[in-house]
Amino acid sequence: MIIIRAKYLIPNPENCIENGAVTVNGVKIDRFGKFDELKTHGKNETIIDLGNAVILPGLINIHTHLDLCNLHNRVKPTNNFTHWVFQIAGAKLRWKDEDYISSIEKGAEICIESGTTTLADIASTGHSFAILKKYPLRKVVFKEIINTNPDNVNDVMNKIQTELSMTATDNLLHTGLSPHAPYSVSKELYQAIAQMAKKTGTPICTHIAETQDEIEFLTRGTGNFPILLKQLRAMPNNWQPPGFTPILYLKETGILSSSPLLIHCNYITDEEISMIKSTNANVAFCPRSHRFFGHTNHPVQKLLDAGINVGLGTDSLASNDSLSILDEMKFLFNNYSISPKTLLTLATINGAKALNMESKVGQIREGFQADLCAIRISNSHTDNIYNQLLDVATKNIFTMVAGTVCYNMSL
Ligand SMILES: [Zn+2]
Repeated sequence: MIIIRAKYLIPNPENCIENGAVTVNGVKIDRFGKFDELKTHGKNETIIDLGNAVILPGLINIHTHLDLCNLHNRVKPTNNFTHWVFQIAGAKLRWKDEDYISSIEKGAEICIESGTTTLADIASTGHSFAILKKYPLRKVVFKEIINTNPDNVNDVMNKIQTELSMTATDNLLHTGLSPHAPYSVSKELYQAIAQMAKKTGTPICTHIAETQDEIEFLTRGTGNFPILLKQLRAMPNNWQPPGFTPILYLKETGILSSSPLLIHCNYITDEEISMIKSTNANVAFCPRSHRFFGHTNHPVQKLLDAGINVGLGTDSLASNDSLSILDEMKFLFNNYSISPKTLLTLATINGAKALNMESKVGQIREGFQADLCAIRISNSHTDNIYNQLLDVATKNIFTMVAGTVCYNMSL
């Protein structure tokens, strides 16, 4: 039995316990409460004292691309999204297997250090499955699918099925599919993936409603995306715009009925918000990546008011400074009027729900998986604990996933 204690314990956003502790038995949480009431002085009891820190449920990053870590600081912040995509595609053209592998390894380590215990990663190659399997992180690895030629649907689907069947999932590794975006996946391929998801229950995520360019592409077939697709030689012959805004388009393809994780949703109408709500889809909001591209304010509050489940993602280091969900919370605290308790909910409970794991992670509860992190706070701060948590100087010092200590800087 391990007892982890600290000055504060926040088992869920509504509850803060001073001098709190969690007891961990194997991979699960046994009990939590005040340290004095939990300690038993049993023979097989190890106490980890984290001191002036707040123990939280492990943070959940519901959107990242770890295999792009080596592109950190290679592309400057821009409001020209298609130019960014072109630069990324160009940089990756020269990449070898080692570049992807070292990116994923670097990313996994950064996530663990920053208190992330569960993540949803997009895999542009097959490496992510094998590499991330070795790390003690809980993860859903979504295989990225990009193909704009409707004639290729059967070949692509056969390849995906073979690839997923070759990946052995376990307690910490789950798999899913990520048809990339409406401008990089044909309508026919979206439809085939939606049918497969319906049959097999495979989790789906897709980038959607990310830019005004995407709306122009889908509704009128004009703008920067046709230019980009021609540059990349990916513009299908005789292609016609579907004539729908992004969420309506996903409904048309059947994707919206698979409870998908919708990445971004930066530009959506009220009608589309109601549609997301009625289908129980989830939204991944990536605040600092959103700023990187200079978008207008994200409709996160509207989505929350509509009762939609929104979690937080960092996106990749090609459009962000760090892979820390705590940094995303601090950014939102300073730039959006969202309360610290709501931010904690987005980063834990909502993230778990978006990945269909709300019955085992996202809160510190008896019988839940022992996924924890601890944030060191300053000694002199007098503000309330929730505000202290989001002070610029706070930092993760401890990460535990399924009862295994993955990171401990408390000493
Ligand atoms: Zn992304």
